[in-house]
Amino acid sequence: MANTKQQQLDKIAQQIVDAKVTPELAAQATQLVFGDGNPDSEVVFIGEAPGKNEDLQGKPFVGAAGKFLDEMLDGIGLKRADVYITNIVKYRPPNNRDPLPEEKKAFLPYLQAQLEVIQPKVVVTLGRHATNCFLPDLQISKIHGQPKRVKLSLKEHAGDVLEVVILPLFHPAAALYNPLQRQTLIDDFAAIPIIIDKLKK
Ligand code: URA
Repeated sequence: MANTKQQQLDKIAQQIVDAKVTPELAAQATQLVFGDGNPDSEVVFIGEAPGKNEDLQGKPFVGAAGKFLDEMLDGIGLKRADVYITNIVKYRPPNNRDPLPEEKKAFLPYLQAQLEVIQPKVVVTLGRHATNCFLPDLQISKIHGQPKRVKLSLKEHAGDVLEVVILPLFHPAAALYNPLQRQTLIDDFAAIPIIIDKLKK
């Protein structure tokens, strides 16, 4: 019998450990923060990298930004357990510094493999790091809230593509303390159920 999606995801997490991806980050992190939620979800949220709370608990978005994300999900009738949440970089950078370009590059194949297993319809990129992984030359301040269709090439099924809608949003940690960005993020969030509904028609 084919492995379940969760089993396939567990395998990718193990591959990251076995391949010793970003050994310097791994050495100072408590643990790998791979992803959390429903692997059958139509929506995947991608953040930047784990922070202190995420590093300690082994789950993405469990600190202040995570609480805000949960509230916004609640506002569109979704629970955390309904969606899948992950980050580009899967170990906490020291002192929460920005992930380096080579760190993002090192984790990208694993993020793509994760998406290939989950097969989401909508990928919500939180902040510029996640957004620029998929839409390299675009500025989050100009394109936030605007869905873009993107074809991702697949690793396991070479030649095939996964068509997803990318929805770039401001990062909840940045928006948390900036009232203007905060309202913009809440307003942009409302696009998520509309996009999902449209894709079903
Ligand atoms: N910020 C992120 O980008 N990811 C997390 O998991 C937590 C905070």
